[in-house]
Amino acid sequence: MADTGYILALDQGTTSTRALAFNAEHKVLAVAQRELKQYYPANGWVEHDAAEIWDASLAVMAEVIGAMEARGMTPMALGITNQRETTILWDRRTGEPVHRAIVWQDRRTADVCDDLRKEAGVTARITRQTGLLLDPYFSATKIAWILDNNPDLRALATAGDLAFGTVESYLLYRLTGGIRHATDATNASRTMLCDIRTCTWSEELLDLTRVPKALMPEIVDNAGAFGVVDEGLPGAGIPITGLIGDQQSAAVGQACIAPGQVKSTYGTGCFVLQNTGEELVYSQNRMLSTVAYRIGGKTAYAMEGSIFNAGTVVQWFRDQLGLIQSAPDSEALVAGLSDSGGVYMVPAFTGLGAPHWRADARGMLSGLTRDTSAAHIVRAGLESVVYQTADLFAALKADGAQPAEIVRVDGGMAANGWFVQYLADICDVPVERPVSVETTALGAALCAGVGIGLWPDLEAATAQWQLDAHYDPAMEAGHRAGLLKGWQAALRQCLA
Ligand code: ADP
Repeated sequence: MADTGYILALDQGTTSTRALAFNAEHKVLAVAQRELKQYYPANGWVEHDAAEIWDASLAVMAEVIGAMEARGMTPMALGITNQRETTILWDRRTGEPVHRAIVWQDRRTADVCDDLRKEAGVTARITRQTGLLLDPYFSATKIAWILDNNPDLRALATAGDLAFGTVESYLLYRLTGGIRHATDATNASRTMLCDIRTCTWSEELLDLTRVPKALMPEIVDNAGAFGVVDEGLPGAGIPITGLIGDQQSAAVGQACIAPGQVKSTYGTGCFVLQNTGEELVYSQNRMLSTVAYRIGGKTAYAMEGSIFNAGTVVQWFRDQLGLIQSAPDSEALVAGLSDSGGVYMVPAFTGLGAPHWRADARGMLSGLTRDTSAAHIVRAGLESVVYQTADLFAALKADGAQPAEIVRVDGGMAANGWFVQYLADICDVPVERPVSVETTALGAALCAGVGIGLWPDLEAATAQWQLDAHYDPAMEAGHRAGLLKGWQAALRQCLA
């Protein structure tokens, strides 16, 4: 890449929309960000305004392009990464959304899933084709919900007047002036409509969930020529050459591109991805199988486990209980303690994700005594995120995955050195934190770089990955086993 060129990444997340400029050394040269308004119209419902997402995307792109122009630099390519599963329907003529976006966290279709589950063999068929579990988390039942609750929209959808897409697909459509209606294989793999063995839409699952095929985008690779930014928009003429869902993007940004490699992201929730290469491994322990990336028509797969509450535990201590002033304060508060004083916390604020998938579970603190201090409780909270990660690794191991040699961490909580050391200790695996913590946006930038031919493949694109800190496990095995036994006992109480 010439010294005056850079790669623009658009990171459309659950709580914000960001644009970042990266150079070929993975360095962030500029950032712009807009918060995204959350709508909670009913219990368990979460919505976004897709028009706001579009406006914010243009605003952050314009800001970064402007800042870089002032430094004499121009964008070579655009890569987009996004919150996955979130469902948008829009008018093909205008590109305007016809309904609020239904966000991945939204549980309104739980009943629909329960009804589908009653039909013999349905769950097994869904898992076989999609690698997922039948759950409201994924897009399929969200699309059907919009059509079922707006009969006019179902008629328009069947007639081919509407389009469906997850966020990257919607942004691609609008950025290309309606020329390209496509989704990438990683995002498609989260709809519960894609047969990930072939990366094609499953007619059977479209029928089952009553989603008209006329709505569906073309499924494309993560790197390629997907169109150019339309005239009159910020960055007009930039080729769009990378599309990838956020967790897969973080895995690419962490250079987890060889079978066996693992990344774990600790933001609001925690997402563990283990690359399984060309092999599609089905979990017997309620982990998900998913597309890690597809480049040059070749698909790599991953196993994924998600924990709903990670950073939210720290936020809860700060905002609800007032035990800490700021998230980073948690480190100094707990580091001086020898243990949590027998306190265990199960942070099931919104249920438990993998490997339990218990939406009805609620949080719990156990082992409290008169000697329990605020520090013990905060420590139990941080420990709980580690124990939940250990449960995910145990599930992966039970599924026959090769144990990770190293786990690469990122996300807000990865800044907490005590937390990362405890993770290494309890999971009994070395943990590494990279210099570039912007792994999600970086993954999209690297895909875009491959798409434009800056690098021949992901191996070359990720070769610059740089270590910030390495943590070796240093806990005695008996001690570890005792702590995990206590956690399992607390977890059983919570699930009961
Ligand atoms: P997201 O992308 O999901 O919004 P981030 O990756 O920005 O999340 O991480 C933010 C989360 O990390 C917050 O929940 C915050 O409480 C937590 N966090 C940030 N810094 C620390 C820290 N030093 N120790 C523990 N938790 C932290």
